[in-house]
Amino acid sequence: YPLEIARDNHSFSRKSVSPSALKVLYRLSDAGFDAFLVGGCIRDNLIGLTPKDFDVVTNATPEEVHDLFSNSRLIGRRFKLVHVTFGREIIEVSTFRANTASQEKPVEQDGRKSLKGKDTARSTHGIILRDNVYGSIDEDAERRDFTFNALYYNIKDFSIHDYCGGLADIEKRQIRIIGDPRQRYQEDPVRMLRAIRFAAKLDFTIEETTAAPIKDMAHLLDHIPPARLFEEVLKLLGSGNGVTTFKLLREYGLFKYLFPDTDALLQSGWQRKDIQPEAFITQGLINTDARIQDGKSTAPYFLYAILLWPSVALRHEEFEKQGLPLMPALHQAASMVLDNQVASTAIPRRFSTPMREIWDLQFRLPKRYGKRAFTLLQHPRFRAAFDFLLIREQSGTELDGLGQWWTDFQQAPENQQRDLIHKAD
Ligand code: ATP
Ligand code: MG
Repeated sequence: YPLEIARDNHSFSRKSVSPSALKVLYRLSDAGFDAFLVGGCIRDNLIGLTPKDFDVVTNATPEEVHDLFSNSRLIGRRFKLVHVTFGREIIEVSTFRANTASQEKPVEQDGRKSLKGKDTARSTHGIILRDNVYGSIDEDAERRDFTFNALYYNIKDFSIHDYCGGLADIEKRQIRIIGDPRQRYQEDPVRMLRAIRFAAKLDFTIEETTAAPIKDMAHLLDHIPPARLFEEVLKLLGSGNGVTTFKLLREYGLFKYLFPDTDALLQSGWQRKDIQPEAFITQGLINTDARIQDGKSTAPYFLYAILLWPSVALRHEEFEKQGLPLMPALHQAASMVLDNQVASTAIPRRFSTPMREIWDLQFRLPKRYGKRAFTLLQHPRFRAAFDFLLIREQSGTELDGLGQWWTDFQQAPENQQRDLIHKAD
């Protein structure tokens, strides 16, 4: 395949590029640096999707970039880069990097420019912890994950540079990892999750040799910091393709390393008259996907509340059998499930608190007498808990018309609200 495709021979259009990204590209170029768009924005544009954001790469160092833009700041440790801010839009600018993974000798000895101190580091499992050794554009391409993510749009002549065969793979609608799949997953196991994410998002197939080692290597996710996995899960399940992603994650044996409790419970086939875990989670993801497709927001805590609810229900039952009253049993169950989960994916407290509230409200929403219904309506988590309740009903939980009652109650004028409360008594 040709390495450079001239402007007339590819379909990437500059019109689709955000004015802010163009400003960054031209400022860099005018200052004498190379400046390219790279990654998701090229891929999505060529496939006919609207890019989420625009990433820029250059041969300027982060410090040089920072000096060019007063509206910028240096960020990152694992990957040092620059954020240039235009109102709410952020353009990420990074410097060409070399993949030092396959190189034996310290890279500094090649006389490349690099940051002071330790530029690369690996964990005992061979996972890359830092990657700050600069390189050329073709080296930069080789350290990227998939061929379609290693396409570069040159602002100087509007050509596309394709060092890894990404255009051909887009043509074939396939996801192909760059280099040796095992080595690349070893370096960064999150790439396995990214393969699944793109498969679901783009409706592409995962090329055979890229897919083959995943089941075998899935366990490497155990070595990824839970905070990073938390972020990855939000992108995987909270981007509008949750149902497909959930299915693929389980197919490839990856789900287990994100949600061990939930996975074990699904594997065991446990269910109760009032909860069918698989149907419930799937319904939750269907609703979340629909909301996102409609341009509505979804809260991370809602997604996590869905994924952990079956485990909470199971433990709740166990604690009640041990003699705890309903609500204390629920609180114990919630604590236990959350404690287990944070070992896999860290859940910040600002999310775990509303999760507990949603679960709590599932037991409070049936109690509507006196002033309670009005008090519940004022609860900051009422809306989320109500949506959650509807998902339970939609997935087959029989709640005696509770969802309909709350729907009516919210829409009724005040005098009719009192009638509804009497009827519920
Ligand atoms: P999205 O639409 O989700 O933003 P993206 O391809 O832009 O997709 P990012 O996570 O924003 O994904 O990453 C930007 C680029 O950085 C990718 O296109 C890829 O080239 C590179 N990249 C990201 N994560 C990795 C990784 N784990 N290993 C290698 N390269 C990566
Ligand atoms: Mg991106």
